Amino acid sequence: MVEHCIFCKIIAKTLPTQIIEENDSILVIKDIAPKAPIHYLILPKIHRPNLAALTPEDAQHAAEILFMAQALAKKQNIPAFRLVSNNGEQVGQSVFHIHFHFLAGKVLDF
Ligand code: AMP
Repeated sequence: MVEHCIFCKIIAKTLPTQIIEENDSILVIKDIAPKAPIHYLILPKIHRPNLAALTPEDAQHAAEILFMAQALAKKQNIPAFRLVSNNGEQVGQSVFHIHFHFLAGKVLDF
């Protein structure tokens, strides 16, 4: 847990959130400012600032994110989804705890 990290606080349940799924290594929450009818954030519980900070030792965490996205789609019967991770302020990263946006429920043509 990193002090001042909003997602670490959410993972530690010291900040309220809407939980969609949780397991030992991942928390999935609803994005507070949704950009699509379905907009979840897939958060690994381990703190890493972003993809650029991952090391080969994190391979399992990276794989679990993808399989969580697959499981969400299966469980909620979502036929198509987009998985996005902003890495760096220049491309829109605003929270520096690695996360993937799971977007679905409308045509995304950009
Ligand atoms: P990014 O800009 O790619 O770093 O994504 C951060 C996302 O976190 C944005 O889509 C925000 O709307 C979302 N967000 C920020 N604070 C919260 C919060 N307390 N609960 C849920 N989502 C949040």
